[in-house]
Amino acid sequence: MPELPEVETVARDLRRHLLPEGGGPGPEIAGTRIAWPGTLRDGDPASFAAGVTGRRIEAIGRRGKQLVVDLDGGSFLTVHLKMTGQLFVVPAALPRDPYERAALVLADGREVRFRDVRKFGRIGLYVADDDPFDGIGPEPLDPRFTLREFRRRIRRRRARLKPLLVDQAFLAGVGNIYADEALWRSRLHPLRSAATLRPADERALYRNVIEILAEAVERRGSSIDDYTAPDGDGEMQERLDVYQRTGQPCWRCGRPVRRIVIGIRATHFCTWCQRLPAADRPGAAKLLATMTPRPGAGAKRSAAGAPRRGRRWTELDGEGALGRTVDEVAARERAVRTRAAAAARRAAARRGAGEAPAADVPGTPRSAGGIS
Ligand SMILES: [Zn+2]
Repeated sequence: MPELPEVETVARDLRRHLLPEGGGPGPEIAGTRIAWPGTLRDGDPASFAAGVTGRRIEAIGRRGKQLVVDLDGGSFLTVHLKMTGQLFVVPAALPRDPYERAALVLADGREVRFRDVRKFGRIGLYVADDDPFDGIGPEPLDPRFTLREFRRRIRRRRARLKPLLVDQAFLAGVGNIYADEALWRSRLHPLRSAATLRPADERALYRNVIEILAEAVERRGSSIDDYTAPDGDGEMQERLDVYQRTGQPCWRCGRPVRRIVIGIRATHFCTWCQRLPAADRPGAAKLLATMTPRPGAGAKRSAAGAPRRGRRWTELDGEGALGRTVDEVAARERAVRTRAAAAARRAAARRGAGEAPAADVPGTPRSAGGIS
């Protein structure tokens, strides 16, 4: 699901397409087309059309994982992309995509189309006094979000770090991908209790959450599954250290990255670099007992979450890679195929939306980088 960096990228692309460079209002909305009324929060296409028709788009921003489109007169739209939502700005004459759920018809001959294969995405229309973001935590990239503020908030919490980081009431915009990445960078176990953090841990986590999100914004987010933006895919997926790297060597210690499922969320981490303090183990063991081990993840694994014994990364010679089990190799191949299929789906969506393939869009070199 798109998180802060992905939604921020969509917002920036939309601004570029819809708002004049020198400032001032964007195009007028001439009408709407709602193919799936369930996409609207209130489910009422008539009131939606009445609320937006004749309005101009004045600003496009983001709050947490939602896009915010300000209209003149003080009303505003929110767009939650959820699992598979995509937005495109296209000429009105372009044939419609079967997965288009809603569209804003602009007076300038273009349309903003919302494509959403799985129909979980939602568009809301609000008036100036509404606050649909009540209860959502601070924006991690807001300069007002200081270490002091982070400490104040985390010291009130006792939750385990992974569920805490993805809790939108705690921090806005962090989801599965960047929570796993920030925890790995901070060397903190996902099941560690917030109450056991030392001041240095708090500082590391604060810094790494901000750094990973800022870096991901710069790289246009992670194009995993269905996420793509109006101007093309992101490339942060090439830079992730643990997310969806199950079985591959941890960059720090060479031990295989582990995957556990907490609730419905897959969590990726290194059991060696992200140790669980003794005080947290009994509680974590209870949680671990409810977790689903990854099928076929191999005989090498002891109990999930327990560190695997073995040589240190620094003691290895040659290329320094620890071997992979047959299962791990097969899993890696499956993951590569899954990613390739997802990339093909995004490319098809883009063709349907009349955009050039991502590879042809300047500034989004898909071949750049690679994990190194
Ligand atoms: Zn490690």
